[in-house]
Amino acid sequence: MTRRMLIAGNWKMHGLRSDLGFFDQLEPQAALAAAAGVDVLVCPPATLLAPVAGHCGDSAILIGAQDCHTNSSGAHTGDVSAGMVRDAGAGYVILGHSERRSDHGETSALVCAKAEAAIMAGLIPIICVGETREQREAGEAFGIVGAQLAASLPAAARMAVIAYEPVWAIGTGLTASPSDVAQMHAFIRTRLPRPAGTRILYGGSVKPGNAGELMALDDVDGALVGGASLDIGQFGAIIDAAIHGCAAQ
Ligand code: PEP
Repeated sequence: MTRRMLIAGNWKMHGLRSDLGFFDQLEPQAALAAAAGVDVLVCPPATLLAPVAGHCGDSAILIGAQDCHTNSSGAHTGDVSAGMVRDAGAGYVILGHSERRSDHGETSALVCAKAEAAIMAGLIPIICVGETREQREAGEAFGIVGAQLAASLPAAARMAVIAYEPVWAIGTGLTASPSDVAQMHAFIRTRLPRPAGTRILYGGSVKPGNAGELMALDDVDGALVGGASLDIGQFGAIIDAAIHGCAAQ
């Protein structure tokens, strides 16, 4: 089965309506990428979902959120539901990012419940897993990632995307070595209910300089990009690396 590549930008808590011009610059490349078998997704903060969706119209740029609540509505001040995210124009939602696991104490059970809510609302969840530096150094990386996957992925997750993001590589400039990434992605694939049809992204300081090498690995189906996705030049170069990787296959 051929899996389409996915290059996803996680804008975290960055972006205002004055940044919408970014999408005009991205659009031609997203169209080129889509034709070459590479999906381009941007996940802005919740406040920008509807403005970005309105601005992009029916362009090739896919839009995602960075979180959603487990409930469809209710007394949950400050939260947004999966249905609201969908209604704002998103098709994807990042769940269980390590910053949410650490900043908000999110457990894998909660991530699983959010993923179920997302799927019910018609969103594709991007479920993040990854070990800390201490866990890797203690030889626990595979056990930790295996346990996170087992507990975070709903049984009915036909359309889920997995993002392997070693916590120590996020925003640090450190990247896992290609051989570590290859081993972990191969391991993750063996743990999936739909191994051949599920996209596994790598995330953690992906930059133009390392994207080509990482995207060329067999079980790497794209990237979840934080810092570099805020810069059209860098994000564009990462998308280019994915397009060239597809063309080379
Ligand atoms: C991320 O936020 O998911 C991420 C991988 O960030 P960065 O690319 O900045 O390391």
